Amino acid sequence: MLSADFARLGEEVRAVDKAGADWIHIDVMDGHFVPNITIGPDVVKALRPHTEKPFDVHLMIAPCDPYIEAFAKAGADQITVHAEAGPHLDRSLQLIRSFGKHAGVSLTPSTPESALEYVIDKVDHVLVMTVNPGFGGQTFIPAQLDKIRAIKKMIGSRPIHIEVDGGIHVETAPLVVEAGANALVSGSGVFSDDRYAENIKAIRDAAMRGRVAA
Ligand code: ZN
Repeated sequence: MLSADFARLGEEVRAVDKAGADWIHIDVMDGHFVPNITIGPDVVKALRPHTEKPFDVHLMIAPCDPYIEAFAKAGADQITVHAEAGPHLDRSLQLIRSFGKHAGVSLTPSTPESALEYVIDKVDHVLVMTVNPGFGGQTFIPAQLDKIRAIKKMIGSRPIHIEVDGGIHVETAPLVVEAGANALVSGSGVFSDDRYAENIKAIRDAAMRGRVAA
């Protein structure tokens, strides 16, 4: 939702739901962990009645633990924290699951996949950032493809999603899927014009080409 019209957020959530989005990805920024400020739990709560699709809440805040309960109660279905945001990642993941929510770890472009090593059995999804967190509309960082491959290997047969966030559009979607990603976040790729359904379909079709190639 980072690239949506913030003055009409409820309407925008309904529009991407109708346009075929599987999850609603909500970027929460605090002006401290990342150099931008977006929205808090009250806005998530206000958006909740606008769709039945899962809310995929990406916390780019530090410390994250004091706010996990508020986002869980606001209606998040999946909560993702950054490996560095805790201060204690294992505790943050347990806290998210204690509210019955899916727990995820996000890795910034400079964070190695080894950050997952000792928490892998406590995560439901890994969110690989393919741009530096903070702003929409940035350019995809190709070096992250190797990291996606390494995470795919580390996960093995575990039922863990690999989600990719940053610079995802029709050109980059097949690359990340071929590397092992199975959940794609797109902001400006969807909201660039008012044809949300066409944009989502184009990214999904491009992603399927990556699956065939893999
Ligand atoms: Zn995000």
